[in-house]
Amino acid sequence: MISIFGLFSCKTDTKLAEEKTESGINLIYKPKNATSSGFEIRIIPQKPELELQKEISVSLIKYLSKEFPNNEIIIRLDSTISFVDCGQGFEKVVCPNCGKEISMDFWQESMDMASRTNFKDMSIKTNCCQTLTDLNSLNYKADCGFAKSIITVNDPNTKINDSKILLGLKRISGIDYKLIFAHI
Ligand SMILES: [Zn+2]
Repeated sequence: MISIFGLFSCKTDTKLAEEKTESGINLIYKPKNATSSGFEIRIIPQKPELELQKEISVSLIKYLSKEFPNNEIIIRLDSTISFVDCGQGFEKVVCPNCGKEISMDFWQESMDMASRTNFKDMSIKTNCCQTLTDLNSLNYKADCGFAKSIITVNDPNTKINDSKILLGLKRISGIDYKLIFAHI
């Protein structure tokens, strides 16, 4: 089911669509000339369990649509945590304690275990130095994360001012975010 409502009172061509998903909703801002190149910015709260409220999400889209007026922006609001990856940029996972590379087998196994709890329990003991940590605290190259609420800016062709955007989003919602640059 898709419902559409106006985002700006003065601009009737700019609409925000709402789409129901299995366990949440997507809010979609799609300007007519939006493009897609396989590059997107994924913006997530630093705390994986944090759920953005719909009203705040609309304000966040409003802000981002000024920064990226020609780009599709989607906010996915879900009740469960997902892994937010960086696509083709994924190289390796590194232990935050000893700096050694974590084997993909060990990481995959840990991800499988955590996914059985819907990532509520992400705790692990690294096999390199037996450090008690969690999947979200590992160092991902390129950066990845975990989130219930995911903001995606599709094909941002303008130069991105990371700190300005993070500050702008925090001003609106009081939440700290991180940016993930994904090449699909
Ligand atoms: Zn280690």
